[in-house]
Amino acid sequence: MTIRFSRRQFLASTAATGAFVTLHPFSAIAATNQAHLRILSTTDLHVHVHPYDYYADKPIDTVGLSRTATIIEEVRAESTNSILVDNGDFLQGNPMGDYIAYERGMSDGDLHPVVQAMNVLGYDCGTLGNHEFNYGVPFMDKVVQGADFPIVCSNFANKLGADGRADDLFYKPYVLLDRELTDGSGEKHTIKIGLIGFLPPQIMNWDQRHLAGKYDARDILQAAKAWVPEMQEAGADIIIALSHSGISTEPSVEGQANAALYLAGVDGIDALVTGHSHLVFPSAAYETGNGIDVEAGTLQGKPTTMGGFWGSHMGLIDLMLEHDAGEWRVVTSESSTRGIYERVDRNNIPLVEDFQPVLAATQKEHDATLEYIRRAVGMTDAPLHSYFALVADDPSVQIVSQAQTWYIEQMMQGSEWEGLPILSAAAPFKAGGRGGPEYYTDVKVGPVAIKNVSDLYLYPNTVRAVLIDGATVKDWLERSASIFNQITAGGQDQVLLNPDMPSYNFDVMDGVTYQIDLTEPPKFNRSGEVINEGSNRIVNLQFNGAAIDPTQMFVVATNNYRAGGGGSFPGANADTIIFEGPDTNRDVIVRYIVDQGTVNPKADANWTFAPVANTSVIFETGPAGVGYANAVEGVNIEPAGDGADGFALYRIGL
Ligand code: MN
Ligand code: MG
Repeated sequence: MTIRFSRRQFLASTAATGAFVTLHPFSAIAATNQAHLRILSTTDLHVHVHPYDYYADKPIDTVGLSRTATIIEEVRAESTNSILVDNGDFLQGNPMGDYIAYERGMSDGDLHPVVQAMNVLGYDCGTLGNHEFNYGVPFMDKVVQGADFPIVCSNFANKLGADGRADDLFYKPYVLLDRELTDGSGEKHTIKIGLIGFLPPQIMNWDQRHLAGKYDARDILQAAKAWVPEMQEAGADIIIALSHSGISTEPSVEGQANAALYLAGVDGIDALVTGHSHLVFPSAAYETGNGIDVEAGTLQGKPTTMGGFWGSHMGLIDLMLEHDAGEWRVVTSESSTRGIYERVDRNNIPLVEDFQPVLAATQKEHDATLEYIRRAVGMTDAPLHSYFALVADDPSVQIVSQAQTWYIEQMMQGSEWEGLPILSAAAPFKAGGRGGPEYYTDVKVGPVAIKNVSDLYLYPNTVRAVLIDGATVKDWLERSASIFNQITAGGQDQVLLNPDMPSYNFDVMDGVTYQIDLTEPPKFNRSGEVINEGSNRIVNLQFNGAAIDPTQMFVVATNNYRAGGGGSFPGANADTIIFEGPDTNRDVIVRYIVDQGTVNPKADANWTFAPVANTSVIFETGPAGVGYANAVEGVNIEPAGDGADGFALYRIGL
């Protein structure tokens, strides 16, 4: 079905059209019975309207619908026929979304800023993503009511019926938009464009607190096979799937979250806008084969796009349609994306300016969000600092573990793993090292602001849970303990930390208690390879006050980096993942603080160094940690003078 246009044809046609040098070749060469339709798309905006990182409280060039909008306006200006669609995950995912949900609220008639921005741009259609449910269905519905365009979703239901068509859906499954299409000779035709939406049915698990017992979700392929034929019967000339579902070559199974590849195989679907996985398609992130054609930009021959996330890209599908015997069909297609920035030598260079009407429409909410992130959302009864995170159980890691455990407990409810013990693994991210002597988390007792949360959790990781046995728990901790040099009993002021191992690979586990015997050699090296098979640095490892059972199974809360194999931790190699959370660890911490009101993440000293008589070690940390040194539980820390490069030295008598 692909017709390739040579460069010469393209030049000839652009020359013929004179000034319109940017005209796409499909528009330039469309014959009398042909028309060029462009499908512009955004996906996974997550409330990123302004180019601003609210966690860091500074402007940023990698996000913002205000930037994507400039590309949208440019492409529209060079298009004969176009529509603009959004693929879901628009109303949650940054502090502006939290501000509206937790603070300002949505009274009847209120507009959500992301919807205001979308209304300014005149979207034609949208669908729901999984994150639309994070604040509950009534909130979502109020946001959706403000949209000047239809929102469709074919697999979210009040109640499921015997089959897809019998489902009592919450929103309409699809729309048929009558649009005027100008053909190659300038003549106008009315075309019925069908748009149908899909979301991952996993919402029933991810947001069960909002959805269980009240709503239901159907498998994506089942929904497609139910509704696409009805769209055809109703006269759809072309059908575009808004798939808030990513592209995976895993075998097709019922309930698959990333089902776009198989959705493309459903008869009647002409093109797919995909998302959810926050990647770019077509791009080198995907490999050609198994139905994916990166070069052609197709899945099973159907043009497909995925426009990154947070407004990073506009997705674009170009269709050359042909009118024949009363029917429109796709004769050829192109898929692409256009980014708002490019990465040059580790810098993000903006490629477009802001589209001012989008900024203006949401300036009030942006300003209110700035005020919100700088204001307390909760209180902490303990200082949240990381000065001693590598030598003792630590409050900045403790709060991450508490929030992860709180979240995974909810996520395990109703699953086959409900009731299994939950442990939490977390590492200090800001702990000096190459970041320098001021590179530590330091939040005082009292109010906690949103912008502090990025300090507690530096990376935009998402939550994962893995299922491992007690023996693997021990090995996980052995791997962590490779950050320490081997210590000789009786020696003084021995250097404790191996500077080659980054702090983010020092996972502390909550939910068990243990000691670290520094006189043993490390079992693993800094790359995670076993170097001393029989070594046991982790001693007195206990669960519920008794020695851990090596065969007992544990659910361990962690992040996508670790669970996917980052740092090469035993038991964390992607195979053990039982839960892939859609939520970022940062979001979970904010929710936890908002939910609890006051948090008390005082470290519980669940891990300590094993005592070694007449032995001391030296380590360095930020000089600002001096005020906390006496309060660290489970270890005796004393100042030991100045270190190099502005660090301070401390001594621990083991
Ligand atoms: Mn998303
Ligand atoms: Mg602890």
